[in-house]
Amino acid sequence: MRALVVGSGAIGLRTAVELIRRKVPVTLRSPVSPLHPSVCSIGAGGLWMPFHCDDSRTDRWASETLDELWSLGKEEDNDLVEIMPAVSLENNNNELVRQTEDTNSTYTDTDKLPTWTKDPRLEFQQLTVEMLGWQNIVKKLRIPTEEELKRAGYWHAWMFQTPIVDSPKMLQALLKEIEENPDADVDVETGEYYESVDHMQEVAQSLSCDTVINCAGMGSHAMCQDKNLVGGRGVLLQVERNNCPRRPSLQGMEQDAVLLTEARPWGSDTEPCYMIPRGNIIAIGGTYLEGDTHPQLRDSERKRLMENAQLMGIDIANANILGEWTGFRPYRPIVRCEEEETQGHVRVIHSYGHGGSGWTVNVGAAKEVADILLRT
Ligand SMILES: Cc1cc2nc3c(=O)[nH]c(=O)nc-3n(C[C@H](O)[C@H](O)[C@H](O)COP(=O)(O)OP(=O)(O)OC[C@H]3O[C@@H](n4cnc5c(N)ncnc54)[C@H](O)[C@@H]3O)c2cc1C
Repeated sequence: MRALVVGSGAIGLRTAVELIRRKVPVTLRSPVSPLHPSVCSIGAGGLWMPFHCDDSRTDRWASETLDELWSLGKEEDNDLVEIMPAVSLENNNNELVRQTEDTNSTYTDTDKLPTWTKDPRLEFQQLTVEMLGWQNIVKKLRIPTEEELKRAGYWHAWMFQTPIVDSPKMLQALLKEIEENPDADVDVETGEYYESVDHMQEVAQSLSCDTVINCAGMGSHAMCQDKNLVGGRGVLLQVERNNCPRRPSLQGMEQDAVLLTEARPWGSDTEPCYMIPRGNIIAIGGTYLEGDTHPQLRDSERKRLMENAQLMGIDIANANILGEWTGFRPYRPIVRCEEEETQGHVRVIHSYGHGGSGWTVNVGAAKEVADILLRT
């Protein structure tokens, strides 16, 4: 048995690692290096949080991925994963939060919260903005003050602990693990984009592989003629994290935190507002625009991201902006993680369409592929 893994993003590399750990010889091929900006996984925020990944298996995959990231994050001297607090802001229009009739207090319809929020490691909790401000006296998170949040109209927040993957470093570490295996044959800069499933099968046969595992992300749209796969366009500004200047109101608040909101006025479903401290950058976002194929930031988007940074507490005029990035989340109504019935001698297993959650589910998805491969 030898498997050809196509694609060297978060899904392809972690799948190849899983196969190697299960003693399946692997040939890994992709047209460009994992560090190439066209690879969706390189720019991603790396936040563990299911987002636009619709599949009944997502919770299990996310939980298996959390297991791995959590133990990595707890290891001393690890520079691949950092566990930090995340705060998601809500206004009072959220249907999960109801006002009680007799008092002005609120309660949460916890049955409606997604399953992943119940993992005890995350310490997922709801806080009013006052409680958040009060907790912050102890935690000293670099997020806007209680007054600033109230003035904007935010009412309460979800707060949880979560891993952040340093995407470029993790891609390199996964690739290294594969390259160091004597049974692996690796070329991740072939310059060759496969055109069809038949094409992948031909290449697999020429490389003496009896299975091909398609982890080509958005590349599968053309390769598999899959009209269900759409790009959820996301834009980011990358601000230097080290000594990042903060607004005067946040002086003394030393601890990095993720801040995000899809609630107005700062965010919406298609224009979420977020900051994710990741490795040496703080990623400032963003957008989620299905079907928008524009390859770069528009001027209006750059302006909005600068405003988002300022709102979230960064003194953007004095910050060092290291770069900007546009990526396309491979979204599919159901993730395609299955074996395809084909005529040829080479088996074909697909693993693409993980939407905005590639780093949140890649370990679980890799285990699923390995199980499919080894089941028969
Ligand atoms: C702005 C933004 C922020 C994000 N933030 C997060 C986050 O915080 N947390 C999270 O979990 N997820 C996040 N995501 C989503 C995550 O980035 C994706 O789900 C993930 O990168 C998908 O991984 P992949 O390996 O399937 O695709 P990719 O990383 O794009 O890899 C695809 C691979 O296939 C290769 N390939 C493409 N076409 C072909 C072809 N025709 N033939 C051969 N090879 C081909 C490519 O070169 C590449 O090697 C974010 C995405 C965006 C855009």
